[in-house]
Parts: sequence; structure tokens; C-alpha cells
Amino acid sequence: MNLQWQDFFARRTERVTGSQIRQFFALTERPEIISFAGGFPDNDFFPSEDLSRVMASLVKDDPRQTLQYGPTEGLYELRVYLSGKLRRAGALCESENIIITNGSQQGIDLLSRVLINPGDPVLVEEPAYIGGIGAIKSYGGIPLGITIDQDGPLPESMLETILSLKKDELKPKFFYSVPNFQNPTGVTTSLERRSKILEIASLHNLIIIEDDPYGELCYDNLVPPSYYALDRQERVVFLGSFSKVLIPGIRIGWMAGARTLLEKITLIKQTTDLCSSSIGQRLAYRLAQDGYIDRHIERLCSLYRQKRNAMLAAMQQFFPPSVTFSQPGGGFFCWVKFPDHYPPSSELLKLALEKKVAFVHGEGFFSSKGGSHTARFSFSQPGLNDINNGIRIFGDLLWEIENHGHNSLPAVNL
Ligand code: PMP
Repeated sequence: MNLQWQDFFARRTERVTGSQIRQFFALTERPEIISFAGGFPDNDFFPSEDLSRVMASLVKDDPRQTLQYGPTEGLYELRVYLSGKLRRAGALCESENIIITNGSQQGIDLLSRVLINPGDPVLVEEPAYIGGIGAIKSYGGIPLGITIDQDGPLPESMLETILSLKKDELKPKFFYSVPNFQNPTGVTTSLERRSKILEIASLHNLIIIEDDPYGELCYDNLVPPSYYALDRQERVVFLGSFSKVLIPGIRIGWMAGARTLLEKITLIKQTTDLCSSSIGQRLAYRLAQDGYIDRHIERLCSLYRQKRNAMLAAMQQFFPPSVTFSQPGGGFFCWVKFPDHYPPSSELLKLALEKKVAFVHGEGFFSSKGGSHTARFSFSQPGLNDINNGIRIFGDLLWEIENHGHNSLPAVNL
């Protein structure tokens, strides 16, 4: 008898469906394609030589600590360093308020596991980071989208959702937000909005999960103070990561929050992976404490700034004026909106792939049915010429739709 694996899967796995990004990945990452789809850092910006030198010296000089298991909470020195950094940014934080995670993705997963009961409503941004929505759903959370504009989540939308849940005697567990250079829109939440949202959270007793992998990659102005720094009630949990400011391959991130919460998270992390990578933590600590990462971030900002500028200039030059795009002040992403009379962005993607250009169409970032005429364009990976050429090629396609309607375009079947 043939074994049917589907019959063995736990019910909670049914809620997790593959992201569209992954479905299209094989196509969008073909070498002949100019891809604005993946949200990865630029491989060419990895400081490989410095990393191999430091890594070799760690293994040679301190093999015991570098190669051995470590405490579940993480390397003590790294926790001291990170709490100091958060304190300098205005937060009340000690090393006991920090746990090192396997990237910030593990932070979202552990928090969802510790906080969500199946059926719990959870507030997310609309659109939101797909990996956040996925983690929340995987524990049975029901993500409810809070509309965002160019200044971040709308407090009215948040209140409306909370009050309509209240009518059914329901209450959201937490609000998951990426306040700086958000994935997917590039939007940064203004200070005024942060204060209002904290007020609402306090009034309705919600937790805020602040996921901030991009905040230090800022190309114009510094970002406003974090929710974590503004909070005085221990209702904010902060997630940070070395993935975008150093390398994602290290898989090191951190969570900062109330001690009672971290005790629970530590127990759960123990059952997940015992501890995060000792090699990764020692590498991150060595590079962070002597200022190397801060200097590297300055280099990254000047390199990514050029890419951001190239993308915005090309969109301005080559897109029809009816197509609008966000003005990211940092991070990796630009959000594009097409007029309603255009074909859905999933169709535009198929047409673009024919012309060897790729991006991510928007629906997957929405908890509701919205987003059919939106798309995420990432400028982090392609080179400056490819950015200009790719946007020009896609712009030509948009002008054809603008001038002749989309029926003039050939049908494609991918
Ligand atoms: N949060 C956001 C908003 C992200 O964009 C990403 C990576 N794409 C992550 C979390 C996960 O990052 P990591 O686990 O590498 O720290």
C-alpha cells in the first residue's frame, strides 16, 4: 500500500501555503532575468575577506567557545553589547532583556508559538511581510490587516478593527509591525503614528511586536525612535537582525522584551534548537564590539543609496504617471501601484517575465483579498545598469497598456 504523506500531516500545517515569491522563484532567479523579486542583500557587498580572517582567528584563538554549544539565551557578551545599543537609543534594556535568535524570523516564530492560541486574531500591516503572516498563521492566528499609508499604519483602521472584534468579544493578541522601510512597501511609520499606536495598544492592552531588520540601512534621514524606546510599559517586543547589515548566512538575530516573556521564549527555544550558532554569535560580537559593523553599515548605506536612487529615477522617467510608487528612505523595497484599468499585477508579471524582467506581485502581502494592482520591486540585488534597463523595459510595457489597452499585448502562458 502506498503511503499518503498528506494523511499524516498535523492540521495546523494546512494553514501554511507556499508564498508566491517562492512559487515564482525558479523563474525570477534565472540568470538572464533582471530580477527585482528577491529581497536578499547584494552578494557583492558581503565583506568575505574580513569575515574569513576573523572567523579563522576565532577558531584558532578560542576554539572552545566558538565551536561548542552555548547558552539558550545566547552569548552573554553579545547580549550585553545589544542591550547597551538599545539603551543608547533610549530604551530601558539590560542584558537579561535580550535573547539571541536564529535570525529575526525565528523571533517571529517563537513569539507566535508562545502567544497565539488557534483562532486568535492578530493585527498586521496591510500589506505586511509575508514571513510574518506565515508564522502567525502557522500557529492558528488569524491575521487582520491594518491599512497603511505613506506615514505607516492608520490608527483609525487599528481602532476600527479592535472595536469590531470587541463586538464579538474578541481581542487581538498583538500587533506585528515593521516600522522602518517596511517589507514590502518601503514605508516608515512617523513618530506621531508610533505614539498614537502605542496609546491605542495601552488603552486596549495589546502587545506590539516591532520587527526592525532594515532601520539602520537609511539613505536620507535617521528613523524615528523605536516603539521599544518609546514604550514604558514593557508592552513592546523588539526584533533585530544581522542579516541585512552584515550577512544573512550567519543566521543571528535578537529579541528584546520583558523578562517574564523571555523566560518563556527561552524554554520554547530550548525545544526548538537548544541555542543559536556559537560561531555566528562570536563572529557577530567580534565585529560589532570593535565598530566594524557600524563602519560596514556606512559603506552599505552609500552603496544601496545609489541603487535606491537609480530605481526611483528610472521609475520617474519610464513609468506612465498613472503608475505610482513609494519613496523608500532606506531598506530594499519600493511599492508600486497600478491603475484599476490595468491587468492585475500577476498578469503584468507574466508579461514582464516574457521580457526577462521580474518582480513580486502584491496579493501575497495582503491578509484580505486586496493588492491585485500592486507589486514589490526590490532594488537590493541588481546592479545599477540592470536597475535602469529593467525598469525601462517594464516601463515600455506599461506605456503600451497605457496607450493601447492590454488587449494589444500577446497572451502568455507560463
Ligand atoms: N522580517 C522582515 C521584515 C524581513 O524582511 C526578513 C527577511 N526578509 C526577516 C524578518 C527575516 O530575517 P532574518 O531571519 O534573516 O533575520
